[in-house]
Amino acid sequence: MIVHIVGGGLAGSEAAYYLSSKGHDVVLHEMRPVKMTEVHRTALLAELVCSNSLKSESLTNAEGLLKAEMRMIGSVILDCAEKSRIPAGKALAVDREMFSLCVTRTVESSGVRIIREEIKEVSPKSGEIWVIATGPATSESLAKSIRAMTGGEDFYFFDAVAPIVTRESIDMDKAFFGNRYEESGDYINCPMTEEEYKEFWRELVSAETIPVEDFDRKHLFERCMPIEEIAKGGENALLFGPLRPVGLVDPRTGRRPFAVVQLRRDNKDGTLYNIVGFQTRLRWGEQERVLKKIPCLRNAEIVRYGVMHRNIYINSPKILDVFMRLKDGIFFAGQITGVEGYVESAMSGLYVAFNIDRILRGRDPVRFPRETMIGALTHYITEDVEGDLRPMYANFGILKPLEKRIRDKLERRKALSERALRKLESFLENLKS
Ligand SMILES: Cc1cc2nc3c(=O)[nH]c(=O)nc-3n(C[C@H](O)[C@H](O)[C@H](O)COP(=O)(O)OP(=O)(O)OC[C@H]3O[C@@H](n4cnc5c(N)ncnc54)[C@H](O)[C@@H]3O)c2cc1C
Repeated sequence: MIVHIVGGGLAGSEAAYYLSSKGHDVVLHEMRPVKMTEVHRTALLAELVCSNSLKSESLTNAEGLLKAEMRMIGSVILDCAEKSRIPAGKALAVDREMFSLCVTRTVESSGVRIIREEIKEVSPKSGEIWVIATGPATSESLAKSIRAMTGGEDFYFFDAVAPIVTRESIDMDKAFFGNRYEESGDYINCPMTEEEYKEFWRELVSAETIPVEDFDRKHLFERCMPIEEIAKGGENALLFGPLRPVGLVDPRTGRRPFAVVQLRRDNKDGTLYNIVGFQTRLRWGEQERVLKKIPCLRNAEIVRYGVMHRNIYINSPKILDVFMRLKDGIFFAGQITGVEGYVESAMSGLYVAFNIDRILRGRDPVRFPRETMIGALTHYITEDVEGDLRPMYANFGILKPLEKRIRDKLERRKALSERALRKLESFLENLKS
């Protein structure tokens, strides 16, 4: 059996190395430098296209937990990050060239055959497994063929994500449940008085946004207007848009509020809620500041900030199984599955490779425990999302909640991380037997 991996980015390199180190025959197809993407600059594997940080190492940070879990399985991305590390406090920042060189050499010397070519179509022959890990800048021809394989509508060229907050951080003393024109319902409604609304509006229109590239302007704004742009239409614009109060009565006052921010369940477990109509290009710090002007979100814990940018990804919950398999012989990994971030992409490469190795040894693939960040993120991406998938990075909101509630945020995160690592250790131990 030969495993073909398309894309030598964070996910593809991780998957290729893992499988090769387990003794499998692996071919890695990477199109650079024969054909470059719009975001990559070099021919090296695992190029970091933007920041040189792989984020926090602290176990009170979801990224820190994810890395600790990946180290328990073995990760070439994290090993090379360690070798090329530069000082950056609690963050794992790297010398980007040294990092990518290390990944390239380690993958090359592990026995992986690297072919520099663009793959335009994937159709496995018998005796082959293919992993598509071509990332947010998948080449046009392959994107077209994936789009055909996934049925057109389940393939996206950009994301427009509204911020997501944890359910437990919403102040339910100020909010109420209800659907428009119904007495009850599933939406959480955050009512605002006229003064609260006006203060929120002033902060929103003056907040700093991320500059818009021409591509984004053309493709994003046609489809989906950022909330700050709607707000710039005038002081009352939002009252006829996402903050319209019609059909909603606050049970505390018996009256229709002046404005209402609605939150919709984001996952089947109901631990996360997204803010309806709040897709935004505000800088993250500004999102934090402006959202705090909404009374029931004053202490909201944002687990996913809003973004609007170009990004190629598939609607994984609809078309992939929990092992990120489209059908026999075709798997997806990396950002194209709807995970977001360097480490998350590498993790999904590792997860897919872990299960391909099991399949090739005649064993069943396995889901990771929901208490672990690997298990929670793969579950979210492939099964847990309500509606269509919006890309997601590691966060504590997707983990199975603790049995006993801990109010202090840092203590809660510490307990979640300790539980995750214990669970993963015994899970991996059990698989050996
Ligand atoms: C502009 C931009 C900036 C980002 N900045 C950050 C950041 O600062 N921090 C962060 O954590 N995340 C960031 N991300 C998000 C994301 O985590 C990274 O893009 C990450 O590299 C994704 O890993 P991947 O392995 O899925 O894809 P990639 O690392 O992009 O790897 C995919 C590989 O596939 C190759 N390829 C594409 N099509 C084909 C084909 N048809 N045949 C053969 N090879 C092909 C590409 O050349 C590339 O090497 C950014 C994304 C973008 C687009």
